[in-house]
Amino acid sequence: MKPPRRHRNITVRRLVMDAYQFIRAQSFLVDMAGRQFRPGFELAEIDLTYKCNLRCFNCNRSCRQAPSDMEMPVSMIAAFIRDSMERKIQWKRIRLLGGEPTLHSNIFEILDLLLRYRADHNPQVRLVLCTNYFGRAVHRVLEKLPPGIIIKSTLKHSLENFFKPFNVAPVDRPFNRFSDYSCGCRIIAECGLGVTPLGYYMCAIAGGIDRIFQYGLGRKSLPEKSDPMTDQMSAFCRLCGHFGFQWPVKTEKISPTWQQAYRNYRKTGSRTISF
Ligand code: SF4
Ligand code: SF4
Repeated sequence: MKPPRRHRNITVRRLVMDAYQFIRAQSFLVDMAGRQFRPGFELAEIDLTYKCNLRCFNCNRSCRQAPSDMEMPVSMIAAFIRDSMERKIQWKRIRLLGGEPTLHSNIFEILDLLLRYRADHNPQVRLVLCTNYFGRAVHRVLEKLPPGIIIKSTLKHSLENFFKPFNVAPVDRPFNRFSDYSCGCRIIAECGLGVTPLGYYMCAIAGGIDRIFQYGLGRKSLPEKSDPMTDQMSAFCRLCGHFGFQWPVKTEKISPTWQQAYRNYRKTGSRTISF
């Protein structure tokens, strides 16, 4: 099958926005002008699984640093759809990610649920599957995808990709000593609400962080629109290399807070989640 057009995560425009965001998240500016980002209810990202057939450096779901077979139960997708309908939330875009989403054991059942939701309740919604497009197992699924699913890919084929250093925690950098982490970052606005096997977060990346740090802050059902989720931002943005500005890298960078977290994770193992 013909590969999709390559999507670029790192662009000059995004780096400039990150630099602005770093300045805008300084505590004194937040006190004066308020927080820049709020959880959104137009876009959603669903992390279907943390399984992946690649092990990229700086993976922002820790698929290399702390591999896991954790999958989202199909019942959670059904609950997400049901709650969205009950609340009359009309998603404009739902992205499926991971890990590698095509490796979810029930990927076709999940796609069927989402396609039926679109046909019956929300014809405007764009359903986008974000894949690494790597390897035969992934291609076998992509070849059988039902029509109506948009494929997006960064076409990864090695461990080394230009990524922001996700595992360099802002709290480990003196540079960030005046930052207000409860502000979140532009990913909240650009990617939307995170739906993960650990619950709902202001962004899907936060669910991947919670898998390692095990704070258990994920909402167990679709959050109310009035929920500012600042408790999650305060807890997770201080750990996340997407916060503010950092130069993209190809080699692995892990700051002390993350090194300790991965050691703890390896000792305790991953949590079993039930909804
Ligand atoms: S393909 Fe994506 S999910 Fe998989 S290891 Fe690489 S960055 Fe992580
Ligand atoms: S956890 Fe990371 S990606 Fe999510 S809002 Fe915070 S800084 Fe941004």
